[in-house]
Amino acid sequence: MMISRNRIRIAAQLCGSLAIVAAITLIYTRVVTNVNSTTIALTFLLAILGIATRWGLLEAIVASVGGMLCFNFFFLPPVGTFTIADPQNWVALFAFLVTAVVASQLSTSVRKRALEATRRQQEMERLYELSRGLMLVDKGSPIAGQVSHRTAQVFDLRGVAIFDRRIDFVYRTGLTDDSVSDRKLRDVATERTTFRDASADVWILPLNLGGEAAGSLAICGSEISETALHAIGNLAAITMLRAHAEEAANRMEAARQNEAMKSMLLDALAHEFKTPLTSIKAAASSILDEAPPAQQELVTVIEEETDRLDSLVTETIRMARIEAGELHLQKSPESVAELIESALVKLRILLEDRDIKIEFSPNLPEVFVDAELAGLALRQLLTNALKYSNPDSPICVRASAEAPFVRISVKDSGPGIPDKERAHIFERYYRVAESADRVPGTGMGLTIAREIVLSHGGEMWVESAPEQGSEFFFTLPAVKRNAEGNS
Ligand code: ADP
Repeated sequence: MMISRNRIRIAAQLCGSLAIVAAITLIYTRVVTNVNSTTIALTFLLAILGIATRWGLLEAIVASVGGMLCFNFFFLPPVGTFTIADPQNWVALFAFLVTAVVASQLSTSVRKRALEATRRQQEMERLYELSRGLMLVDKGSPIAGQVSHRTAQVFDLRGVAIFDRRIDFVYRTGLTDDSVSDRKLRDVATERTTFRDASADVWILPLNLGGEAAGSLAICGSEISETALHAIGNLAAITMLRAHAEEAANRMEAARQNEAMKSMLLDALAHEFKTPLTSIKAAASSILDEAPPAQQELVTVIEEETDRLDSLVTETIRMARIEAGELHLQKSPESVAELIESALVKLRILLEDRDIKIEFSPNLPEVFVDAELAGLALRQLLTNALKYSNPDSPICVRASAEAPFVRISVKDSGPGIPDKERAHIFERYYRVAESADRVPGTGMGLTIAREIVLSHGGEMWVESAPEQGSEFFFTLPAVKRNAEGNS
């Protein structure tokens, strides 16, 4: 369709060129007859230059040949024939033809350059307009869709499509799936190579920026230069990647604010619980001094239970903080024996009547840990061993050096953990169905214990066989000693 219209235009211009030559001939033979041949030749030349500038080289060459023939036939003696009597006129005719063709060529190329410059300038203006438009995209609706729409609008294109690789979606503006398929767009984005379908007048470019593939861009029906096409591609990629980066930053900010809220809530909770406990403790202490002996025992119970409640609250809040991802380690060198001892003391009421074995390998180094948190991890394993094993069965705590760590384990003779469950028990809120009905729990204990160990750079794992008990292991970093044995 486009090609045939072009042909008709060229044919019309060729006829126009010949008509101009005929008109000049007619004027000088019929209207203005008393003119010398130089003036006539110059008139032809001027007309040919005009044709070259206005229409192009082909039309100018046709006019040159036509003009030469007419000049020879009608104005060079003997008039009315193509023969030339005076050899000088041959030279004149040849000079006329050469001048006409060369001048046509020059003026056509000047015209082409001027057109090219105008086109470039227009492209630059449109690119500028597009870049300004893309700066003002609406954050509320899909960015790739807006980029596609604006590109089509600014460059007056028949169609644009953009494939956003991050969300795996194609946005189209006046470009159907028949002319550019989703698959083709995906392929170009993956292969990162430009594709051109000249028959459909379609370009598909990959959208890359800084080594990242953002998707692909299809443009249809344009006379845009390749440079401008790539510039549009870069603008689209920058806009999409900038929008993605902003989204990620907003999400991070929201998460940070969420964490800050959690932290504030925990502080408030800690305060609300601890203040009345401190008052009860203070009141009990002052009664204790003056209470008659019969009541002293009761007041002592109040004091002890208040202490217990206080440490329970401290522990619960700490667990909540760990669960909220707030681990602030205050590390110092600690003796492993003391860590185990202190954990057992804290659990003494639960451990009453239980057979606890402790085994140390000799020359155990100190560990560099947050004593409170490491103790909490160990207590968690001890509590589980107590909860899940028979009250008559022994529990064994072992510690050995495994440079650069110290390995601690808690072994029980409970029901063990089935193979398929072992991979899950460290997950948040996960509880093994069989034991969940019998033993109370939250499914958080092992998650927190493992979290603490990981934050120290150690590891936690379990070895277990059904009906043969379980042994939970964890490692903590040993304090490095120099040659003299100092830490
Ligand atoms: P909870 O004990 O509150 O359920 P945990 O995270 O401490 O949560 O433990 C997760 C699951 O792992 C428990 O529900 C239990 O089924 C299993 N488990 C943990 N320790 C032992 C153990 N020593 N013996 C058998 N099963 C255990």
